[in-house]
Amino acid sequence: NLSDRLATTFKNLRGKGKLSPADVDGTVREIRRALLDADVALDVVKEFTGRVRERALSDEVSKALNPAQQVVQIVNDELITILGGQQRRLEFSKQPPTVIMLAGLQGAGKTTLAGKLAKWLAKDGHTPILVAADLQRPNAVTQLQVVGSQAGVPVFAPEPGNGVGNPVRVAKDAIKYAKDKQHDVVIVDTAGRLGVDAEMMKQAADIRKAINPDEVLFVIDAMIGQDAVATAKAFQAGVDFTAVVLSKLDGDARGGAALSVASVTGRPIIFASTGESLDDFEPFHPDRMASRILDLGDIMSLIEQAQSAFDEEESRKVAEKFATDTFTLEDFLSQMQQLKKMGSLKNMLGMLPGARGMKEQLENFDESELTRTEAIIQSMTPTERRTPKLLNGSRRARIARGAGTTVTEVNGLVNRFEQAAKMMKTVAKGGMPNIPGMGPI
Ligand code: GDP
Ligand code: MG
Repeated sequence: NLSDRLATTFKNLRGKGKLSPADVDGTVREIRRALLDADVALDVVKEFTGRVRERALSDEVSKALNPAQQVVQIVNDELITILGGQQRRLEFSKQPPTVIMLAGLQGAGKTTLAGKLAKWLAKDGHTPILVAADLQRPNAVTQLQVVGSQAGVPVFAPEPGNGVGNPVRVAKDAIKYAKDKQHDVVIVDTAGRLGVDAEMMKQAADIRKAINPDEVLFVIDAMIGQDAVATAKAFQAGVDFTAVVLSKLDGDARGGAALSVASVTGRPIIFASTGESLDDFEPFHPDRMASRILDLGDIMSLIEQAQSAFDEEESRKVAEKFATDTFTLEDFLSQMQQLKKMGSLKNMLGMLPGARGMKEQLENFDESELTRTEAIIQSMTPTERRTPKLLNGSRRARIARGAGTTVTEVNGLVNRFEQAAKMMKTVAKGGMPNIPGMGPI
């Protein structure tokens, strides 16, 4: 894959104090091959390697303390540029509702994205509505209704016998309905075909013309490889779009399609879809994608995911409890339940540098440990949970029996709790904890 190829290329550079033009050429050639193998379009590869070569041969590198590192930096910079530079945010209309139309081939991930986007917006205080304007496939409307109920967001669909077969009319009616019912965002799901065809393109263009959306998001499967460029160009010519959504980034093909589509269409990538669940979704950050391609890890995404999973108010309360030494086993339990909400741990680990091995270990991760801990805490009386100091030997034995486990496990849990409370107290007071085995941070 692209990351591995580039990593090997850079490894060969490392340790060289000074780079000769031959070194630079060799490196650029390797980068070129790696990009082409990752299905980046030829034009994009040429432009990219041209810029990298020029900069790598310039003073900027020959004067650098560590030329190899400087070349990595240049590649990173140029990747960010080609991915669109700045992060692109969703444009909201000054006069609600904001209308967002989705376009793309069948199977690209539009309907799934509709649900993800709606859920994400609703969490942010918006009142979105989904619109079923894909009337091609018999199941499309039902699929959107399922997605809508998962997201907890209403779906506007044609009533049987009324507007069936006429997606333009459905879309227009939906916007009127949204205005009446004060939905501030309207997300219009449309039909796709397996391949680009004129009729589908016209239908999407007609919908666009009729509803004049604030955003037209072109959804593209990151796994489609070399076809990405032709498909994106066809949609740009036929419907045009304001931004791109890359779906199925959880698959193997990281990077190739992303690099090509943004560069060839000149339209920024706005969101990334990374799995089948509605939470596998995030705003697209060119700099993070670049470091993902270079495998520098994606610690920022990781932190953000963790943050959104923890309710802010809750976190503030907990911090206060830590600081005032009133953190209890009840809080410990609710913290663990919060942790469960945090998106797939496996996904998150995939973003960390060097965490691929850990990801494998996690495949055998023991979820039952969490369940056992829950059982132990639930076997305690409310007073015990609030005042763990009360937990003498006989109480621990009773709890172990109640939870169907051993006193040793109960002891282990109480110890972990006390350590966590002590450590968090230090953090809450502004100090840095010493995590055993890790040394000072
Ligand atoms: P549409 O035809 O464009 O509306 O595509 P759908 O939303 O129906 O998605 C097609 C298939 O791809 C479904 O099985 C989805 O579950 C799956 N899918 C959608 N987005 C993702 C993603 O980001 N990752 C993965 N792995 N699967 C996805
Ligand atoms: Mg669909």
